Amino acid sequence: MSDFDYDLFVIGGGSGGVRAARVAAGEAGAKVALAEQDRYGGTCVIRGCVPKKLMVFASEYPAMVADARAYGWDLNDPAFDWDAFRGKLEAELDRLENIYRNLLKNSGVTAYDARARLKDAHTVELSTGETFTAKHILVATGGRPVPADIPGAELAISSNEVFHLKTLPKRILVVGGGYIACEFACILNGLGSEVTQFYRGAQILRGFDGEARGLVADEMQQKGIAIHCGTNILEMARDGDGIRVKASNGTEAVFDQVLFAIGRDPNSRDMGLEDLGVELGRRGEIVVDRYSQTAVPSIYAIGDVTDRVNLTPVAIREGMAFVETVFKGNPTPVDHELIPSAIFTQPEFGTVGLSEEAAREQEPIEVYSTSFKPMQQAFAGRADRVLMKLVVSQASRKVLGCHIVAPQAGEMIQLAGIAVKMGATKEDFDRTVAVHPTMAEELVTMRQPVRKA
Ligand SMILES: Cc1cc2nc3c(=O)[nH]c(=O)nc-3n(C[C@H](O)[C@H](O)[C@H](O)COP(=O)(O)OP(=O)(O)OC[C@H]3O[C@@H](n4cnc5c(N)ncnc54)[C@H](O)[C@@H]3O)c2cc1C
Repeated sequence: MSDFDYDLFVIGGGSGGVRAARVAAGEAGAKVALAEQDRYGGTCVIRGCVPKKLMVFASEYPAMVADARAYGWDLNDPAFDWDAFRGKLEAELDRLENIYRNLLKNSGVTAYDARARLKDAHTVELSTGETFTAKHILVATGGRPVPADIPGAELAISSNEVFHLKTLPKRILVVGGGYIACEFACILNGLGSEVTQFYRGAQILRGFDGEARGLVADEMQQKGIAIHCGTNILEMARDGDGIRVKASNGTEAVFDQVLFAIGRDPNSRDMGLEDLGVELGRRGEIVVDRYSQTAVPSIYAIGDVTDRVNLTPVAIREGMAFVETVFKGNPTPVDHELIPSAIFTQPEFGTVGLSEEAAREQEPIEVYSTSFKPMQQAFAGRADRVLMKLVVSQASRKVLGCHIVAPQAGEMIQLAGIAVKMGATKEDFDRTVAVHPTMAEELVTMRQPVRKA
């Protein structure tokens, strides 16, 4: 008989927390509880990946309709009904949230709809006033949008609110240059808003391959998004129904909405963590070892709150590795190397491994790269370009990085990611026969490096 109420208490019912809880209970037979302060499914399901991707799909139809006409289809004037879409979207999120609740219930996890904080190394205190003890505590509280710190910032929205807008803004300013800002700029542009994007740095998508992000920026501008790099908001004020924005580039303009997507901070505040000796980093991220264990042995942390690689599949992996380590007697470190990912801009950007710039710092490389007009869009008279790029080690011949900017790049990079993760060389790519006619065939037919560095 255990001295604790539970073997495991999970704080946070998002991607990582739900997976860890239900595997610990369902597969390892642990007695598990989970507290969620908001909606089950967390950021990914309720205000991230899922609603965003559905909005991406919605926003791609106008270009498809234009292309269909170019291909000879006779289509009547289509129109987008935001209310109808939003209603369906909300119903879908309700459905998914229920699935998450049921997954927990069916695995035998006790769920508490409450905010949780830590009282000591084995005790969790809920906003309902209840306290519970647990042998292990797993913090999986995710992150939240960083608020803007300028006069009038309260007039703006974050990515949390964008899914619930009553009307689609005619003119919107998106502030930020990360993947979330770029994705929403493309979504809103596709849905018909006039989109301006401010980013204080020199080029959007900092940290990604330079050539790839340059092409994404060009394509976004070509599709009508006014990107202003090196630009910040100085102040914002209400102006009738709109928001007047003074910018650091000397311009002043009125927008119907301003969306800030300037980063995310870990949700570690006011949880009693520091008092217990759990180490937090500069931005509040919980510091953990490769087994996701904090400085307090009974407390573990996974997902965005640890600010390692902030992606849903990574939070899930970390949750499963935690269960292997703690409940299945199989210490499993989390492998954060060569994680493929996609940015759902238009066109998409899929990437795995090192950017050309990072690889060059590491060792001598060869770069194989080709940019061209894809057949489907070129036939429709569009000027869109795509990019296929491999960054190769001169010494080992291994493909260190693969970068794809193209429609469906997310789907392509998932598969290219397997080869790169297996340590495929450029010659392995070369001896794979092309699938013709496709865009991705270029990945196996590039013979000469465009540069060596
Ligand atoms: C707009 C947007 C788009 C994204 N798109 C993608 C994408 O395309 N692909 C991808 O892989 N990732 C994407 N992400 C990132 C992804 O959503 C996160 O990496 C993932 O959700 C992290 O999971 P998690 O379990 O760490 O935290 P979360 O999913 O954030 O879950 C944390 C949960 O903890 C709860 N909580 C917080 N504090 C407490 C407390 N004290 N007590 C009780 N409950 C608490 C929160 O309410 C939340 O439900 C996106 C994120 C955003 C914001």
